[in-house]
Amino acid sequence: MTHPFLDLAPLGADRFAAIEDRVARLLGTEQDVLIMQGEALLPLEGAIRAAAGPGTTALNVITGPYGQTFGDWLRDCGATVVDLAVPFHTAVTAQQIRQAFAEHPEIDFVSLVHAEAATGNTNPVAEIGAVVREHGALFYLDAVASIGAEPVLPDAWGVDLCVIGAQKAMGGPAGVSAVSVSERAWARMAANPRAPRRSYLSLLDWKERWLDGGRKALPHAPAQLEMLALEACVERIEAAGPDTVMARHACAAAATRAGAVALGGGLEPYVYEARDAAPVATTLRVPSGVVASQLVARALQADPAVPLAAGGGALAKEMIRVNHYGADATPGAVRASLAALGTALSESGLSVDVTGALRTAEQTWQQPTPTTGR
Ligand SMILES: *Cc1c(COP(=O)(O)O)cnc(C)c1O
Repeated sequence: MTHPFLDLAPLGADRFAAIEDRVARLLGTEQDVLIMQGEALLPLEGAIRAAAGPGTTALNVITGPYGQTFGDWLRDCGATVVDLAVPFHTAVTAQQIRQAFAEHPEIDFVSLVHAEAATGNTNPVAEIGAVVREHGALFYLDAVASIGAEPVLPDAWGVDLCVIGAQKAMGGPAGVSAVSVSERAWARMAANPRAPRRSYLSLLDWKERWLDGGRKALPHAPAQLEMLALEACVERIEAAGPDTVMARHACAAAATRAGAVALGGGLEPYVYEARDAAPVATTLRVPSGVVASQLVARALQADPAVPLAAGGGALAKEMIRVNHYGADATPGAVRASLAALGTALSESGLSVDVTGALRTAEQTWQQPTPTTGR
């Protein structure tokens, strides 16, 4: 019996390289783009372990849970880590980065998360990149939650290691991911005796065995199904136009934010300033006396199809995430999310204006592309 997932023809080196080239075009980059055969944590960890070592002083910006993880890896590599933590309700500023360099001129590596789906903020990477470049540090960026939702431009921003995954705004598979690598980053890795070699984590192995050989032979059997899904989702973004896809995310974020405020019931945008709010997902703060995870459970009872989740870990009490990305970056998903939250809030005895929320969301969506995302 034939099955769409089974008995696939082999995925050859040519096709693999063509998919890499397609991802490179999406990123507008001339750098090497490697498609890693695992979820985005693979290149995220592989790039840190390759580029950082005992001689590294890393500025690790923490605007959500991923920044915390990067700090742990950096310390594990023997790097000296300067943590710059900003409250989850805001974004880091280029001025804070400048200040960190002034206090620690020895910083030679900067790790940053572009947008945080987990906390709903987005950081001004272009401005930060200019500061990082001025100081000659290597710039590592997690763009998993921003790619497809807002511009991600490693070359224009001076990003040396830019990691993406397709599972958020691209609406693609979670099982493969990609990293763009600058010449400077390759040189840093080559000079690091502790960079992983002969390891699944190794970027240098892929350089040696794949890139330097002209991409003629794959080092091992590729994750074929995920590669095809990645190709299909990039193709779909190209066909719709990346700007159109990003505009859908920006509109979804603006409409959700405005709609939630109009809904009332004590819901507030978790991220104070709209310009710091990520197009990929909108986070909301619940009123005191309400537990976010319980409110989300109620909302999902009202409508199991809505893209709602409670915040992770300690945030489960106070934060709701509206994951309006990929197939859910639509007016329908935003409307349904607001309506379900309205039902849940009124069941909790709070007074809400669902009609007003839906009208506000619709009007906000209709406005020209809002200026969220940068
Ligand atoms: C989603 C996401 C990832 C990927 O991690 P998962 O938890 O496996 O989805 C990495 N970084 C950021 C900023 C993300 O939002």
